[in-house]
Amino acid sequence: MTNATNAPAAPDIPALESRLYMHTFSPRQHPITLVRGEGARVWDDTGKEYLDFVAGIAVNILGHCPPVLVRAVQEQVATLIHTTNLFYTRPQIELAQLLVKHSALDRVFFTNSGAESNECAIKLARKWGKLHRGGAYEIITAWNSFHGRTLATVAATGNRHYQEPFEPLPPGFTHVPFNDLDALRVAVTDKTVAIMLEPVQGESGVFPATREYLQGVRRLCDEQHLLLILDEVQSGMGRTGTLWAYEQYGIEPDIMTLAKGLAGGLPIGACLAKEAVDVFAPGDHGSTFAGGPLVCAGGVAVLREVLERELPARAGVLGRRLAQGLQELQQEADAGIKEVRAAGLWIGVQFVDERATAVLTRCREQGVLVNKTSNDTVRLAPPLIIDEADCDRFLDVFGRAVAR
Ligand SMILES: *Cc1c(COP(=O)(O)O)cnc(C)c1O
Repeated sequence: MTNATNAPAAPDIPALESRLYMHTFSPRQHPITLVRGEGARVWDDTGKEYLDFVAGIAVNILGHCPPVLVRAVQEQVATLIHTTNLFYTRPQIELAQLLVKHSALDRVFFTNSGAESNECAIKLARKWGKLHRGGAYEIITAWNSFHGRTLATVAATGNRHYQEPFEPLPPGFTHVPFNDLDALRVAVTDKTVAIMLEPVQGESGVFPATREYLQGVRRLCDEQHLLLILDEVQSGMGRTGTLWAYEQYGIEPDIMTLAKGLAGGLPIGACLAKEAVDVFAPGDHGSTFAGGPLVCAGGVAVLREVLERELPARAGVLGRRLAQGLQELQQEADAGIKEVRAAGLWIGVQFVDERATAVLTRCREQGVLVNKTSNDTVRLAPPLIIDEADCDRFLDVFGRAVAR
């Protein structure tokens, strides 16, 4: 422990960041410095405690520093950290086995992020189009989608704001309104190779696809000989009430992409595909860090824990409890809640006006962290390990924070 006389002065992080960082994140939604986390709680550098309903944007699914993940990583970091894919490693094959066993997909390519998982899916679909659909290469995605920040995934993302500064973008992407099957039908041409969708649009504020829509999309893909790519980067790993969101729609994708919660906070992603869609040949794709033993050992520990503790079902139960509390709050005119959209422990609360920043600031002051996806929408994505008391505490603080 340091004492007051020889403790170094705390660095002025906001001033330093403004000099040192590229200004992509400023101003921060939460201008606090987090120094420690445990379970669903984090602490800042003044010692203030918060209930964390951001969870690293749906990443820390087991909460902060969960013992199973800490143990797995500590063991692995002292055994073998990195090898490259010139070699086999055990954690990588174990994680691939688990993913294939517990999904409808057959083959895995590991990546380091969601954007890279989608890049892999795009490359795979294009090569498949060359071989099986007369050179078709276009991918149809939805407006208000989010697929990442690389050039190809920004082109795929249906948000002009993210695209305009970086044009010209790679060609081969068209956009249609989400949950509109007719628009999709009209958009398909002989150049189309795939339809890429999030089962629940997360970054735009938690908009679930309807059952009729996703089933219709699956049928359309089958009729037109197109690939269905589901971006489950944020919806996967139990968040919506099932391990993968597609399970609730009675369909299976041809390609599925993962990242965020896959290793509970370690940087990892994966692109999964049906066997018949895996047309990659040696040398077609690669990545230096991807699928390394450290992150894969973390992924194995996290996925096992999610399955053993049946956290997806728990996310469904607690998500309903939260949504119900929020719908009751919505009855109070003062709360200004226009809509509550929920998919398990993933909830968008849209207000009638632009009060999201005020709400998240008041919540933070009262020791609860949430984030906003726009000026009128707050998004909740707590760790899947929260309990009933955490839900009730959240509802209490949130209820007081929303009132004008
Ligand atoms: C976050 C996200 C991505 C991008 O993931 P990164 O790891 O930030 O590259 C892609 N798709 C969806 C649906 C996401 O939520």
